[in-house]
Amino acid sequence: MIIAVDGPVAAGKGTLARALAARLGFAYLDTGSLYRAVAAMTLAAGEAPDDEAATEAVARRLTPADLERDDLRHEAVGQAASLVAAQGRVRAALLDFQRRFAHHPPAGKKGAVLDGRDIGTVVCPDAELKLFVTASPDVRAERRYRELLARGEEIIYPRVLQDLKERDARDQAREVAPLRPAEDAAILDTSELDADAALQAAMQILQDRGLR
Ligand code: C5P
Repeated sequence: MIIAVDGPVAAGKGTLARALAARLGFAYLDTGSLYRAVAAMTLAAGEAPDDEAATEAVARRLTPADLERDDLRHEAVGQAASLVAAQGRVRAALLDFQRRFAHHPPAGKKGAVLDGRDIGTVVCPDAELKLFVTASPDVRAERRYRELLARGEEIIYPRVLQDLKERDARDQAREVAPLRPAEDAAILDTSELDADAALQAAMQILQDRGLR
């Protein structure tokens, strides 16, 4: 079984996708880490993240070990990832990696949960369950702000809100694989839900659809 979890920055999709995978015994792939890894490796090589020939070359030689880099969560890498993610050649280069994971999950698992922006619309349009996880911009910025503070980053809230809105706009406006819910996606608004409540809501959707 393939479960697609899409949504904007800090909507809680990563937390939910990881919890769902743990509950169901499925493999989990954070597809944002692919774009982040390409961005981080491009920056580390001294190349520009808007140089599509350079980023595509990096994307083509990406390995699972690259997804473990410890700079993936840095703000600068996140910003560069959003530029890289708008490039059609990079997205095409990363498709196989994601589809292979979804259809042949590692360690003999019986299913996979992938989270990202275009899993239900482009990567796995055949997913048995598609969730589109969202929350208000204020709630998302607040979560992101706390996350960054906890990590010791020096950051102010208005900057976080501004960055989040810019990234949303870029994700929604790009020509290739823009962020939008698949037609058959269930929309899950987590503005008022904590992680446990979001997991319960998702399990209920699975049950309602006869998948459990
Ligand atoms: O989710 P995360 O913030 O880690 O994603 C990093 C960047 O990668 C995002 O800004 C988004 O533009 C992009 N992304 C994407 N498609 C995905 C996952 C992430 O375009 N499936």
